[in-house]
Amino acid sequence: MRDGTRVIRAGHAQPGPGEPFSAGPTFASTYRLTGDPAGQPFAYGRFSNPTWSDFERAIAELEGGPALVFGSGMAAVAAVFGAVLRPGDTVVVPSDCYYTVRLLAEGFFAEMGALVRTAPSVGSEMAEAVEGAKLLWLETPTNPGLDVCDVAELAEAAHRAGALVAVDNTTATPLGQTPLGLGADFSVASDTKALCGHSDLLLGHVAVRDSNLLEPLLRWRTQVGAVAGPMEVWLAHRSLATLDVRLERMCANARVLADWLRIQPAVRNVRYPGLTDDPAHALALRQMRRFGHMVGFELPDGASAECFLGACEILIEATSFGGVHTTAERRARWGRDAVSEGFVRLSAGCEDPADLIEDLTRALDRAFAPTDRS
Ligand SMILES: *Cc1c(COP(=O)(O)O)cnc(C)c1O
Repeated sequence: MRDGTRVIRAGHAQPGPGEPFSAGPTFASTYRLTGDPAGQPFAYGRFSNPTWSDFERAIAELEGGPALVFGSGMAAVAAVFGAVLRPGDTVVVPSDCYYTVRLLAEGFFAEMGALVRTAPSVGSEMAEAVEGAKLLWLETPTNPGLDVCDVAELAEAAHRAGALVAVDNTTATPLGQTPLGLGADFSVASDTKALCGHSDLLLGHVAVRDSNLLEPLLRWRTQVGAVAGPMEVWLAHRSLATLDVRLERMCANARVLADWLRIQPAVRNVRYPGLTDDPAHALALRQMRRFGHMVGFELPDGASAECFLGACEILIEATSFGGVHTTAERRARWGRDAVSEGFVRLSAGCEDPADLIEDLTRALDRAFAPTDRS
């Protein structure tokens, strides 16, 4: 079965006569439970839920290993840290990965005794830093820089050093790359982004290569209570059916916008892994099935970037990414990533590309019109 078919069928049983294609969400905090609770699949809403199980089967099929759903991407990230790291253990985290992941490692987990090493995603430092580590955290393509690291090569180096490997698969989604197949032990994602894709819920998941790794993650989820609501999970499963068609349009739009941005005199350093001269292209071509829906570029300064984003009418200025709406933000406004003041991270949506080009042309004209700049 191909991706486009798989996302529609995954996690759903073949309907019997008179049955709906998709069971509705099961809203339950508690279930009738008699006698010995051992072996009962559903006892209490923090332990398990049939709507979660259906979605987890779908994710497992796409990621290529058993999966657990969490209440957000960060809940999924924290579960991996919590399941693996003990006082004195070293975790290697990319210096250019999602800010809150770095913050969680260097804050709470360092305070609880984990040793945190950081290294850039690109270059040889990451493979060197893994010596003596317990966990190697990777993110590819990175958010927001869109750099790509070699998962297979780094996983091999980590395993040789006795470390486990987790890949944050948020930006690519399991239809863009499957980290478990490249040798990672955990594939972690914020499904808040493209996997759900409608900017209406938060969710996360972890999939594992070795099913023994599922048990501590499940224990963490149950004891911490990092659970998702059944309605969110049901909506996510419903959204999953269109992931292939959404990504197809989003990635095509990203390519159109990247090509257009490159020929604008005011725009510099366009980053898109699909551009043949992008530093990440060769690796992305080997490792990824799609080049993604995100584009990075630089305007001369913070003021012109703000002015450009403010003048857009179809593109919505917003943080986060991966939805059907095209969004963008001046990333330096948060003061968290090593990007220039005029750096813009754009997430291409599913709109008609001609409307997007018209919108961005108008906004760029307005941002750089002589009268507006005085
Ligand atoms: C958004 C994001 C997260 C965190 O996900 P939430 O759903 O917001 O908790 C983690 N990693 C990456 C790469 C992200 O973009």
